[in-house]
Amino acid sequence: METNGPMARRSLFKTAGLGALALGGCSPPVKDEPDWRRVFPPVKVEHDRIIRTVVGQRPFRPSGFVVRVDQVGSKKIIHHYGHGGCGVTLSWGTAHLAVGEAYDGGVADYAVIGCGAVGLATARLLQRRGGRVTIYAKDLPPQTTSNIAGAQWQPFTIADREKRTPDFDAKLERASRLSHRYFQDLVGDRYGVRWIENYACSEAPSEGYRDDPIVDLYPDQKILAPGEHPFPFAHVRRFTTLFIETPVYLEAILQDFMVMGGRLSVRGFSDPAELESLHEPVIVNCTGMGAKDLFGDDELTPIKGQLTVLLPQPEIDYVTLAGNLYMFPRRDGILLGGTTERDVWDLGVNEEAKAAVIEGHARFFGDFCGK
Ligand SMILES: Cc1cc2nc3c(=O)[nH]c(=O)nc-3n(C[C@H](O)[C@H](O)[C@H](O)COP(=O)(O)OP(=O)(O)OC[C@H]3O[C@@H](n4cnc5c(N)ncnc54)[C@H](O)[C@@H]3O)c2cc1C
Repeated sequence: METNGPMARRSLFKTAGLGALALGGCSPPVKDEPDWRRVFPPVKVEHDRIIRTVVGQRPFRPSGFVVRVDQVGSKKIIHHYGHGGCGVTLSWGTAHLAVGEAYDGGVADYAVIGCGAVGLATARLLQRRGGRVTIYAKDLPPQTTSNIAGAQWQPFTIADREKRTPDFDAKLERASRLSHRYFQDLVGDRYGVRWIENYACSEAPSEGYRDDPIVDLYPDQKILAPGEHPFPFAHVRRFTTLFIETPVYLEAILQDFMVMGGRLSVRGFSDPAELESLHEPVIVNCTGMGAKDLFGDDELTPIKGQLTVLLPQPEIDYVTLAGNLYMFPRRDGILLGGTTERDVWDLGVNEEAKAAVIEGHARFFGDFCGK
């Protein structure tokens, strides 16, 4: 398996961002008293605080996600999958596009296949249009890939640069803007959605972010001067984004779906011909990685990712990003990522990658001036 080969080892160290962690030590605050405007309690990165490591497959397509109408036998199918590393982020936006294709005033009953973030958002938007919806899925939360996700609101790992088309980029921007707006209505404890400050650390200045067409969706951006932050890096950019606690969020959306009269059927499909047995004439395919086998999409490939979770620290109220390392604070634990192993199907914990992520974060928070 590629995970054990030398290539994999090389890419893992790159993945774990250790290259970026050539820590130069903290820039001392310019005054006697630190003048950063808030407190940064450090994360306690210790082996005996680890509570679990989880592994998932980001459903990646080099040319990006699919929202496409198809006909299979007597059924109208809307394919809606392939969200890579940002399926939670984009879910409401692409669902808005998919429901635009699926909804038909003359049809009362809709089927959604899949009960991850993408299927649930799709089902809720069909309900909001007045549809009667049944979700058919092999696995329900908390057993979906969507439950593994952090999840930070940030459209990334969505497509290969050289495969992106202007049409896809326009669709991505539209979906991002729509989704961002939908999530704003879900902020609060019930859905586990909140705004959170991110601190992106690097050795080189990060000016490119200004060219991002959705830069305005990351409010309160600022390049911080040395002395304005405690992080052991020369360059730090602050921005604010939405954060979605997936275990809380998916459960709450599923509850909303049921309260609004939705029906749920735990069922797996192994052949598109089986869809003929459903009574709904319109079916939205939100099967994530499952679309590869079910509909033979050869472009779909997994990007394996894993997160090591530490005991919760409720006082941590910021996200850190450094190279490919990231730290997400959740009520159920501190999530340490990140790894990206493309085309790797194995769902076992990659111990080497895990050690690199823990070591990288231990060094990051060990050199932290906030302590
Ligand atoms: C480590 C990691 C970190 C991540 N972090 C983030 C993040 O911070 N932000 C973010 O936005 N995204 C993140 N992601 C990506 C995100 O998890 C995915 O993009 C997202 O979960 C895809 O959602 P989905 O609903 O399409 O798929 P899934 O959650 O996999 O749901 C698919 C559903 O379809 C069902 N299904 C599949 N095949 C069949 C079949 N044949 N018959 C019946 N049912 C079927 C499944 O049972 C399931 O219910 C991360 C992923 C990983 C692995």
